[in-house]
Amino acid sequence: MKDRKTFHGRTVLMILSLLFLMTGCSSGTTGYSHSFFAMDTYMKVEVWGEDGEEICQALEEEIERVEQKISVTDPDSDVSRLNASQGEKCSVDDELFYILRESLEIGQATGGALNISLYPLSQAWGFSSSASGYRVVPEDERQEILKLCDCSQIQLNSEDRTVVFPQGMAVDFGAVGKGYVTDTCANILRDNGAERALLQLGGNIYAMGTKENGKEWRVAIQDPSAEAGQNGAVLGSVSVKDKAVVTSGPYQRYFEEGGIRYHHILDPATGAPAENGLLSVTIISESGLLADGLSTGLFVMGLEKGIEYWKNQNQAEVVWMTDQGELWVTEGLKDAFQAAEGLQINWVSR
Ligand code: ADP
Ligand code: MG
Repeated sequence: MKDRKTFHGRTVLMILSLLFLMTGCSSGTTGYSHSFFAMDTYMKVEVWGEDGEEICQALEEEIERVEQKISVTDPDSDVSRLNASQGEKCSVDDELFYILRESLEIGQATGGALNISLYPLSQAWGFSSSASGYRVVPEDERQEILKLCDCSQIQLNSEDRTVVFPQGMAVDFGAVGKGYVTDTCANILRDNGAERALLQLGGNIYAMGTKENGKEWRVAIQDPSAEAGQNGAVLGSVSVKDKAVVTSGPYQRYFEEGGIRYHHILDPATGAPAENGLLSVTIISESGLLADGLSTGLFVMGLEKGIEYWKNQNQAEVVWMTDQGELWVTEGLKDAFQAAEGLQINWVSR
């Protein structure tokens, strides 16, 4: 119990400095930036254009609005109300209904790897901020809790916008919330005539428009391998326009006990942290919600199943980093992805 270590903030600092690198060249029309803490993470929004300052403000308010609705730790949120429904039918608004439906769909498409009903399990491990501390959850207890984590038990009724699930069940949008709000923020940027913008919501990046010189933004992807992670090294970068770039990895939040590292992305098949030889998965997609859901889902699935998933859809491109230091990249990124020096790319094709 003594050698516990926790970690959360380092990644954020590194991503911060990376974004600096990328946006350093955007002089010209004035850019406004705004940094704040929300959804349990550090956030920074940068907006260029006449109304940049007001738009930055509107983005922060939008993120706070969505957080208040979907936070599991805020007892007044709509999600907390749903989680307290105790098996009774619960009315939700269109927005929460949409997030639920989309998340369940990504869950199905990933063979259950993305599972929004893992909240009781996250709590048991101590990964929820409402929990009292980290703890290695023993096998029998995991199996017992997993009985409450069956998404097929969640009934959505689109006619009257109601939701019913069994007593004891609880949903949590930790894996998709920042992605969802990325999409609503992108709408605000468009509706208010922003020229260009960069959003950094924790590990979720969204790049709108192009740089001043008309070229696409280059978003750096952190190298998650142990030594490299210490010095802010990157595994590569991807050039994008109007796209979300979302990375999930075990290095984002973990604790150590008895020399073993336990991280926050849980495998619904075992109830324990997903261990499948991956260090990180990055998803590039027009949809922030999809990118976020898939970054978590494909991390759980591992490389092989993830490749199979990618082959059967056309809405997302993927970059995988394995614990052997291998880089796998889907061929839709042929023109957009650049690997760091010395790293070889294994191209994934259909
Ligand atoms: P982060 O929020 O750190 O950027 P992710 O998007 O990968 O990372 O989401 C991880 C969070 O999602 C966890 O902290 C937990 O709340 C929740 N979670 C963990 N495992 C799963 C899973 N298999 N399916 C859905 N949600 C999960
Ligand atoms: Mg995610």
